Amino acid sequence: MILRPVDSEKNSAWTRLIVPDTPDFHRLEVYRAHGGYEALRKALGMKPEEVTDEVKKSNLRGRGGAAFPTGLKWSFMPKQSAKPKYLCVNGDESEPGTFKDRQIFEFNPHQLLEGILIGCYAMGITTAYIYVRGEYGKWITMLERALADASANGLVGKGILGTEFSTDIVIHKGAGAYICGEESALMNSIEGQRGYPRVKPPFPAQNGLWGCPTTINNVETMTNVPLIIQRGWEWYSRIGAPKQPGPILVGVSGHVNNPGVFEMPTGESLLEIIHKWAGGVPGNKRIKAVIPGGSSTMIVRGENLEGVRMDADSLKAAGSSVGTAGLIVMDEDTDLIRVITRIAKFYYHESCGQCTPCREGTGWMWKILTRFEKGEGTMKDIDILLDVANNIEGNTVCALGDAAAWPVQSMIRRFREEFEARAVDRPSGSREAAA
Ligand code: SF4
Repeated sequence: MILRPVDSEKNSAWTRLIVPDTPDFHRLEVYRAHGGYEALRKALGMKPEEVTDEVKKSNLRGRGGAAFPTGLKWSFMPKQSAKPKYLCVNGDESEPGTFKDRQIFEFNPHQLLEGILIGCYAMGITTAYIYVRGEYGKWITMLERALADASANGLVGKGILGTEFSTDIVIHKGAGAYICGEESALMNSIEGQRGYPRVKPPFPAQNGLWGCPTTINNVETMTNVPLIIQRGWEWYSRIGAPKQPGPILVGVSGHVNNPGVFEMPTGESLLEIIHKWAGGVPGNKRIKAVIPGGSSTMIVRGENLEGVRMDADSLKAAGSSVGTAGLIVMDEDTDLIRVITRIAKFYYHESCGQCTPCREGTGWMWKILTRFEKGEGTMKDIDILLDVANNIEGNTVCALGDAAAWPVQSMIRRFREEFEARAVDRPSGSREAAA
């Protein structure tokens, strides 16, 4: 892993999300020696609405996939509520290509806890849940240790930092279902129910966990919050891309010499991330394609990467999305039919089966793609495949349907020649044209 501070100021610990080059930064005493929990102290001296306003003005956008403005989401929570209010922090990262939140659990868990406490104070919440992917045994243990230390030192629980503010934090382990990373399935899972996504509206801010007002934020999003409070929204909003500022964790995998998680300002060039940060493509091979933000985001052709940057607006203009900034790089020798078949199998396996287009469509897509992988697909199958994907998109209870459809749609629209070259009834010469 390589990290770069997002500015040149001396106290760079406060400019980062993960700090593995500072020994033992995950330990409470080291974190506090570097100014840890002072942002919480500062927030507790402000009015809750001032804290939300600070986050709103910073332009922090969620790092879990949708890039929704965090401060705006917080402002949806009712100020007065006869019911308890909850915060759910989503650490269920399970999407192929996405492996960033576990770096926070390992290297900087207290900054996450501090961000959660600040969020709870701003929204008047007294219980927060951190929902962690069940396979993350090592990282769950590390997070539990950090939480126990924070609780033993009066930073979590009753009368935090000697004030009247009290909040409990509960770590909840998932059980290996990708769908539980969907916010309403996540809440059902915490409630002990089957991980089925809920129909919206009502939205969680009105009717969330146990029918109470609830906000759901991603782990990396909450880890940004202490930076904003400590250094101010103006400082934060100048980092990286103006419309989606701040530090971001980019996970790079696939055909690169140095895969890993890199911390950088938003808005870095994708080509620079691949060549300078991730050490380039082995053998200096040509980049055939990238998936920029985890397997659900639309594929981009290698020759179209010039000028594309790791931020929501730039990737939207490139016909994809920033997602979770899990960049998958594929070189010129990659069999893209094999790639998309594997991705389709993942979504077929992870569909909860609640709604018909997703339950049936993901299976149909995988079966058609398997035919292509075996060299048994036909030219007509290409259009049937696209039709199935189009009929899933926008017609399902939750976004998993879209997440399954987008990679298939984009693969056909941007690499149709790969399908035609594999079709048994391809026009003569099309295999050579695609080679
Ligand atoms: Fe379940 Fe898929 Fe429907 Fe989501 S879109 S509710 S995962 S069947």
